[in-house]
Amino acid sequence: MEDFNFLEFIIQATYFVAALLFILGLKQMGSPMTARRGIVWAGVGMVMATLITYFHSEINHNYLLMTVAIGIGGAIAYVSGKKVAMTDMPQMIALYNGMGGGAAAAIAAVILLKQDEMPMTIQALAVIGALIGTVAFSGSLVAYAKLQGLMRGVIRFPMQQFLNALVFVVALTIGLAIILNGTEYSMTLLTVFFVLALLFGIMVTVPIGGADMPVVISLFNALTGLAVGFEGYVLANPAMMIAGIVVGSAGTLLTQLMAKAMNRPISNVLFSNFGDADGGDDAAAVSGSMKEIDATDVSVMMAFAEKVVIIPGYGMAVAQAQHKVWELTKHLQDRGVTVKFAIHPVAGRMPGHMNVLLAEAGVPYDIIYDLDEINEEFPTTDVVLVIGANDVVNPAARNDPNSPIYGMPILNADYAKNVIVVKRGKGTGFSGIENHLFFADNTRMLYGDGQDVASDLVTSLKEL
Ligand code: NAP
Repeated sequence: MEDFNFLEFIIQATYFVAALLFILGLKQMGSPMTARRGIVWAGVGMVMATLITYFHSEINHNYLLMTVAIGIGGAIAYVSGKKVAMTDMPQMIALYNGMGGGAAAAIAAVILLKQDEMPMTIQALAVIGALIGTVAFSGSLVAYAKLQGLMRGVIRFPMQQFLNALVFVVALTIGLAIILNGTEYSMTLLTVFFVLALLFGIMVTVPIGGADMPVVISLFNALTGLAVGFEGYVLANPAMMIAGIVVGSAGTLLTQLMAKAMNRPISNVLFSNFGDADGGDDAAAVSGSMKEIDATDVSVMMAFAEKVVIIPGYGMAVAQAQHKVWELTKHLQDRGVTVKFAIHPVAGRMPGHMNVLLAEAGVPYDIIYDLDEINEEFPTTDVVLVIGANDVVNPAARNDPNSPIYGMPILNADYAKNVIVVKRGKGTGFSGIENHLFFADNTRMLYGDGQDVASDLVTSLKEL
């Protein structure tokens, strides 16, 4: 029997506990009530896995380099995490996600470079992980640049899909050559392999735009998880393996859910021209006019309503109006009005964006409803208050087959008896198209910054 190695046992046990913490943490992130705790648990798991790696038998040098790298990375992440505005969160996620993919690819590169005798299966997994990780890395960086406004528009040209497929097939063939040649392959082959994989990630992302970006980021997130999982297997590191698989499967599920919320198959997101604001030339022209209303009249309407449904959107996040909106809600409730919040799955700029803001303001979960739960209720709703939402209440998605957002499920605010839309001016939503709801007979526009308007409504209500 082999000698029992106590240190090795402790290391593997720590990885196991870290992996458990990742899974339990993720489970807790499933509900806004426990999400903060979930993040702390997963973080503790990550710290444990990182620290115990210092004692790994194969890591008996480079402690200084490791510590410096962790210090620099940790400091940058801490500062940027503290500073980032809620509205910039999607690009932050894209960037961090890209780093994960890049790290997995870098691990693969080191393994492939230093390997002497490695079973072919392990080598194959390293190559697959390298390919996926590199694509996720460069693709996520392009997604970051787009969302950060560093790169504008979409890039499309003839035979694009064919060229993309060609680059992918050549990268795959070189990957196969690396696996089959064992240690005989040249440095040049490996370099060309990584360059092609980087190129593919860029090429596949540049034609995607607009409303499809969050779906793509989620897809790259799933790919990063997969790459980390593969490299975890190659390194025989259970924490990496499990974390990778968890991220890979959670990312895949999220991608599917987001695509479903926008009524779009993933293949459409990747290979068609949706999500581009220029794509709506044939969309039906809007008829009617926008009719303005003031805060006093709106407060009277709401105060004497039986049921009010509030639909928050990206503009509420920009205005940071959630606290005032909750204050308004409490005033209405005190007057005996039933108030409910309706949340569209892609409202805001990241999944769960509105839920996070409302939770932060203290809005109880039992008055927050998902699209499927509330859509039936609009015809019996006296007043819908749309605050900073636009695309998610655009009836063109339901009525106009030529609209770029046609087919996306929306909150049927237009079915309510009265609709009040709070926004600053005539700005379009994320998709860049006109909203037919704003011109409807039962809609009134209440112009102003979301927070200011919510304050005015509270003041008017108090004076009634
Ligand atoms: P939206 O369509 O982007 O519209 C937001 C509206 O808020 C704008 O029309 C803007 O009009 C108004 N606004 C901006 N700042 C404001 C302020 N300070 N006060 C009041 N209003 C303000 O928002 P949405 O209805 O939430 O839809 C989300 C869109 O983002 C969808 O197209 C979705 O596909 C996309 N998206 C979603 C995610 C996600 O995962 N949730 C991620 C990325 C993209 P004014 O300029 O006139 O004020």
